[in-house]
Amino acid sequence: MEQVSIAQGFDSLAAARDPPLLKAFNGKEDMVAAFKWPKEKILDFFDRVTAQPGPRGYDVEAGSQKSLDAVVLSIHKLVKETTSQKSIFLDPPLSVTYQKTEFKLETIFELVGWIFSVTGTSPSNANRNNYYYPLAALYCVFWRRLTEKTTIDPPLKHDPNMVQMTWFTQGGKTRICISSTLDGIGLKPFKDAAQLRRQDDLIKSTLLPKEYKNKTLVETPNPQMFGHCAETAPFLFIQSIVKEVTASTAEGFALKPKLILPDKYKEPYDYARLDYRVLRPPCENCSYLVPRLGFKLKNFDPPTY
Ligand SMILES: [Zn+2]
Repeated sequence: MEQVSIAQGFDSLAAARDPPLLKAFNGKEDMVAAFKWPKEKILDFFDRVTAQPGPRGYDVEAGSQKSLDAVVLSIHKLVKETTSQKSIFLDPPLSVTYQKTEFKLETIFELVGWIFSVTGTSPSNANRNNYYYPLAALYCVFWRRLTEKTTIDPPLKHDPNMVQMTWFTQGGKTRICISSTLDGIGLKPFKDAAQLRRQDDLIKSTLLPKEYKNKTLVETPNPQMFGHCAETAPFLFIQSIVKEVTASTAEGFALKPKLILPDKYKEPYDYARLDYRVLRPPCENCSYLVPRLGFKLKNFDPPTY
């Protein structure tokens, strides 16, 4: 009798720890299935979103819908390219609307992040374990599958080093914004140009005072400039609507994709529940921007054991 009740106790503990994942993209897609999609199925999914953007379909944010076709077309185009540079960087960048504001996006990581950021809203019972972390993991799996080229040119050397997701309430709906850093061996000139463009966008948005141009608050040995971080696009998107956002309750996390993605070419991805060790606190540059958006820094720090 006693043994049975202990076993039941463990079962309920496991259920609380590993809750079933909520469906993503307006309740239309099972994340567990989507983790296994090859490149073609991911592209098919983007086509489905394009075909059904309304509230009964994938519920793409109304103001952003006009950019959907061009974003998906650009991803199709990038995926067909045969070199890493051409399959990651759009030339020229694409003008894309986020809600009401135009932004220029130039990498496949930004384009996929934009789709995640405008498609559907978060379920009311979403939390880090059943929705936000798995959705961030799915974002990583999607860009990994879309940028895998050959065994000679493995994706690992072009993977972003960091991904950031922020979620926030706007007009009673909870939305996410997600994007990544730019990294990659052999792609430095493109990465540096993109960082400068993002830095200028931060200044233009007034999030970053212009005195901070080409400056950093991050101490050596890795003093990256403003515009480098994964937080940049999510924070820029949210800044463009910040008057409509309940900033004090916004939350977010940054994670290191290499700690969750397979390390071999085309190796299947196995979802594992959130382990806080994959999360990273905001750097000094991002810690400076967080309160400027009205966000609370404690909502962006990884929990400690
Ligand atoms: Zn940062």
